[in-house]
This record gives sequence, structure tokens and C-alpha cells, in this order.
Amino acid sequence: MKISGLKTFLIPTTVSDSEWALGKAFLLIKVETDSGLSGWGEAYVPHDCEHVIDALIRAMARYLEGTDPLKIEKFRHNALNAFANLQAGFHLSCAIAGIEMALWDITGIAMEQPVYRLLDSPCRTQVPVYANCHSNKERSLDEIVVYTKTQYADGFRMVKVYPFLNGRTVEQGLNDVKTLRQTLGPNCSILIDAWRALDYDSAILACAGLEELGVEWLEDPMPLDDLKALSRITSETSLSIVTGETLSTETEFELLLQKNAANILNPDIACCGLSQIQSIAANARARSCQMAIHNFNSMGPALAASLHIAAVIPNLAAVEYFPRFKTASEQFCDLHWQHGEDWAFDLCRSPGLGVTIDESALTHFEYQLGPMRSWPA
Ligand SMILES: [Mg+2]
Repeated sequence: MKISGLKTFLIPTTVSDSEWALGKAFLLIKVETDSGLSGWGEAYVPHDCEHVIDALIRAMARYLEGTDPLKIEKFRHNALNAFANLQAGFHLSCAIAGIEMALWDITGIAMEQPVYRLLDSPCRTQVPVYANCHSNKERSLDEIVVYTKTQYADGFRMVKVYPFLNGRTVEQGLNDVKTLRQTLGPNCSILIDAWRALDYDSAILACAGLEELGVEWLEDPMPLDDLKALSRITSETSLSIVTGETLSTETEFELLLQKNAANILNPDIACCGLSQIQSIAANARARSCQMAIHNFNSMGPALAASLHIAAVIPNLAAVEYFPRFKTASEQFCDLHWQHGEDWAFDLCRSPGLGVTIDESALTHFEYQLGPMRSWPA
């Protein structure tokens, strides 16, 4: 079996635009083979970067034609070495991960096995997910309370919120979390994402307040430029410090581990890729750290890939789920994975990733640039 072609499909932000938040573009990849078998993948596309990553994938496509789709590590090696001359970076990683995901899908279908069976033997029967409740529209506390309560009522037992953004002080953010804590009840875990908005002093203040409110997860308290400060925060709080969504290589994650700068590593599935995340997870495990799978992507191929890797990672914390992308994703993807009332996903037995993509739906989306984001004066 040889690769005979590769197609990319940009899904515009209008598809996932909702009342709650502005939409996000998605980028899907179809790898075709001369046997008639094909596989689907998805590349992470940060806002306004979908064309850059699409172009990288299409530039790589001609090198893939005629190669064996089952040689996934060979593909990764050639993409990083022969194609990129080791001049890697975040966007190239997204391109590589998207193609790699499609190759795993093909491999699973060809071998009639779900991808997690090819990665390792599963170490759980269900994969826990949490609901990301972020909105990139400015939201009042009342609106955030209603939204998170809706997710809890829908069955999610963990919700993630962003109390320190939009110029909110630590004190104001902590007051918001206190209100949420009182409203959501004791059975709902509140995960906090600071989105790198704090510094060492304000993060320590935030940690103390969050500890008192029974929060256990603080994601990205500050930028990763100062690992020494992040390491101090990690050692001085009982909260689990979660970080890594801006990183794309195993080497970068290894540095975090060496500096004891996190308790939970957070690589994006469609940027770091299945193979590399498995390796990052093994390194994390050796340092008593856990793994959370970052998934700011569609709730289609990238969610399926997240669930596969999560199935085989012993040191898993949770997988990220975006309720606001569910309906959008269902416009082009039939996800074979089923979840229970508490939103834990049962292991899917379908071969490959366990997704069916409606290619005709993808070709009908009309591309347009996403909404303008803020550009402070
Ligand atoms: Mg985050």
C-alpha cells in the first residue's frame, strides 16, 4: 500500500460560531492510498494561522506520495529532518501531527484495530473529559455561572474557567471562583486556566486563594519564559500546576520536567501528535507527573485521537472537551465514540480513529477569514 494523494479541508470559523463564543477554524487532512483505503487527521490551527499550516501540509504532500503510510515514525523523522532540516517550530509541528493522525487512522483501518490497540494495551475502560467553558466574548459572571451550570447539568463533572482574564485582578477573579464554587455544588470540580496572565507574585496570591476554595488545578499561571519562577510556584502550592499548550516538542517538555516546573503536562493532540505524546507521557511518569490532553480542535478527529492516546496513558489526568464545538463538528464528522451520563467516553472498538467524515460537507463550507481579535493600542 502506497500513499496516492493528500487533501486538506479548511473549516471556517463561521461553522463553530455560537452565541456563547466566536468560532474557530479547523483543518482536516485526508490521506489517500492506492489500495482505496484512506485516513483522516486534523492539525491544530491557532487563530489566524490556518493558512500557514495548510500550506506546510500541502508542501509536504508531494514528498509523501508513493511512500508507505504504515511507516509513521519514518514519516515523522523525514518530516523533521529531510523536509524541515531540523528547523522545527510550533506550526510545522501542527502540520506533522495532522498528517501523522491520518496515518494512524489508515494503520488502524488496515490492521482492523482501534488505534489505541496499536499504541499499547489500554489501561482504562473509560476516558474522563472536562468541559472547557471559555468564551472569547467578554462575559459577565452571571453568564459564566449559567454556562457552567448548564455543562454540569449536562453531566460534566469538571468545568474549566478563566477568572483572571480581561483585566480582572486576582482578588476579583477569586471572588468569581467563590461564586462559582457556591453555585456549582461540591460534586463539580472547577479547573482554573490563567492563560499566562499572571506573574510570580500574583500567581502565589491566586494559588493561596484557590487552595482555600478547594480548587486543585491551575493551568498556565504565567508564560514559560521564566521556568525558574514557574518551578517555584509548583513547589510552593498544593495545586496541580498544568502547562504545555504552547510547546510542541518532547525536548521542551523534558525541560519542564527537569526544572520541576509542572505537575501535569498539557500537550495538544494535533500539535504534538500521538507518537510524541506517548513518549512525553512516559517521561512524565518517570517524574511522577500526570498528563492532560489539550484539544483546542474540532470534536471530531482530534477528539478521537485524544481519546486513543488517553486510553493507553497510565498517568492521565483528563482530556479537554469543548461543548461549544460539538454541534459544529457534527456537521462533518460522525464520532463513533460514545460517552456515559458523566461524559466519560467508553473505549471505541471501531478500527482506526473511529470517525466517519462527510467529505461533501467539507467541500461545501465557504472559506472566509475569522473575526478580528484584539490588537491593543
Ligand atoms: Mg489552556
